[in-house]
Amino acid sequence: MSSLTPVSSLGEFGLIERLTRNFPEQNPDVLRRIGDDAAVVRTSEGEVQVFSTDLLLEGVHFDLAYVPLRHLGYKAVSVNVSDIAAMNARAYGITVSIAVSSRFSIEALDELYKGIRQACKNYGVELLGGDTSSSRQGMVISVTAFGKAAESDIIYRSGAREKDLICVTGDVGAAYAGLLVLDREKAVYLKNANVQPDLDTYDYVMARQLKPEARVDMAVRFAEMGIRPTAMMDVSDGIASELHHLCRQSGTGATIYAAKLPIDPQTVSVAEEFSISPVTFALNGGEDYELIFTIPLSDFEKIQTQTDITVIGHMTADPKLIQIVMDSGEVLDIQAQGFRHF
Ligand code: ADP
Ligand code: MG
Repeated sequence: MSSLTPVSSLGEFGLIERLTRNFPEQNPDVLRRIGDDAAVVRTSEGEVQVFSTDLLLEGVHFDLAYVPLRHLGYKAVSVNVSDIAAMNARAYGITVSIAVSSRFSIEALDELYKGIRQACKNYGVELLGGDTSSSRQGMVISVTAFGKAAESDIIYRSGAREKDLICVTGDVGAAYAGLLVLDREKAVYLKNANVQPDLDTYDYVMARQLKPEARVDMAVRFAEMGIRPTAMMDVSDGIASELHHLCRQSGTGATIYAAKLPIDPQTVSVAEEFSISPVTFALNGGEDYELIFTIPLSDFEKIQTQTDITVIGHMTADPKLIQIVMDSGEVLDIQAQGFRHF
């Protein structure tokens, strides 16, 4: 009898690494394969195309008890367009593949596609194609996004250097706060369907969870500010996990400051209600779809006046030290806690 190894022994990243090992590299125009927000392929002198794909499963990535299908469609596009924006490229098209069980009506799928259509309009991307299948159970959505850029504009995760400033767009932790609120209201509703949830006080965090916006504005804004980030990625798994990616690929360490993390007051209120530190939301929450990037110290003045860009810390020399300075002055190691699939 041979003994079989459970997937959980490797974890998601270990599994991907193992499965994708020893693949032939046979096209010099493929500039980046696996490991960044998107793959990068040179299409003509100085021009590249970028590609990113994601799979969303009912019951794993979304719960249709509280996610309206229109929002789900919008979000499925946002998360992929976000990966293209994270390369500093411009998305121009998507493919959408779905598998649905007989439980779904045509009207329900129309709603899903209304959301997809709205996202295409907002992001200026075209629906290029896809695939449709039945499923035994539930809904599966896979979106692939296609983008392009000048080769010299592409920003990888690997370019950060010691002393570079670490910056984040918008605010972080809100999407996770929204998820907790939605989960709680669902539990209340399941107990007593007559209780109408009071969700007005949570409008911002719920919108962040249900209908995230990809930061497609940043590529243009970087150009306007005269800034070229040295490294960049999107915040899909939380600041902790993303810092680990940036540091591992750039060969640096990092120090960030809890007091500097951009956290919305509504996120702070939810964190208090759940007796969890808002810093934990920001570090490990995920699904913010903001951009985290690094810039040379000398560019500090150029971003200082930008209200929705926050400097949260800086890159350091020792790759083993990825740390956060708490308000108390205590220095803690940041654990990489990405979304655990296995
Ligand atoms: P993201 O969080 O940005 O969606 P992932 O963590 O899903 O990225 O994936 C990490 C990297 O591994 C990406 O470059 C992705 O394209 C690649 N990847 C993930 N799953 C597979 C797979 N089954 N086969 C080949 N490449 C994969
Ligand atoms: Mg990404």
